[in-house]
Amino acid sequence: MTGLSRLNITCTSVDCDNPQTPTHCFKPKRGQPGPPGTCRECGADLIDWERVHERDLADVANTFSALENETFRRHMMHAEVPEKVRELALKRGAAELRARTERAVRSALSKRRSQNAYDGRQTPRETSSSARIQHFAQHATATCCRGCLEYLHNLPAEADITEEQLQYCVELAWEYVERRLGPFAGEDGECGRLRLRPGSAQSRLCGGDRVAGILSEAAGDFLGGKRFGEAVCLTGPEVDQIWIAGRATVCAQRRG
Ligand SMILES: [Zn+2]
Ligand SMILES: [Zn+2]
Repeated sequence: MTGLSRLNITCTSVDCDNPQTPTHCFKPKRGQPGPPGTCRECGADLIDWERVHERDLADVANTFSALENETFRRHMMHAEVPEKVRELALKRGAAELRARTERAVRSALSKRRSQNAYDGRQTPRETSSSARIQHFAQHATATCCRGCLEYLHNLPAEADITEEQLQYCVELAWEYVERRLGPFAGEDGECGRLRLRPGSAQSRLCGGDRVAGILSEAAGDFLGGKRFGEAVCLTGPEVDQIWIAGRATVCAQRRG
């Protein structure tokens, strides 16, 4: 990164002229509204916002690459996860980590901006000793505060947020957690980390029936290291959903 120290990156940093990877900031300037969605410094107009604002989890790969056009998001997408943070996350296990991620997102976003005096400061930065992987995730996915949520995900800071919108934010953050930590073993007796729907990357913990012996090619591909966004879910007359628990267990739930 030219001219920018990694530690000084803030949510309005830009690196528009970087010869390798130019990155920008799409946060509108106060009192100086340029065309919405363009870089506040150089005016670059790079993002298909309509597509991002569909908030479609099946299109999460596109949303992530759109976010990476921002200097700050890109920094957070790739920020080094300190060993202590990684270890703590893995120690928690999938269910607990997922619950903590959800809690962090809810507490950051449930209130309107004007109801939260700390909006913009409620999520610890990666350099803080209280930062956990879910906070890295929130900054990277712009689910850290109502301000970021507004301009990147088109969820107005002064409107009440709906449960569905909150769930979308949780899924984005969880997608980041999984990308950064990689597949890790769920706790004993816990079924599943991923729920694959056709073409979607939606993750859910499940308490479903374990049906041993149903192993899909798609699941095999994922376990082999492919992005799960590319995995195809098998839904058929027999199988409703498939989960992958840890590295080697594949679970499915029968329809009905
Ligand atoms: Zn720019
Ligand atoms: Zn923010």
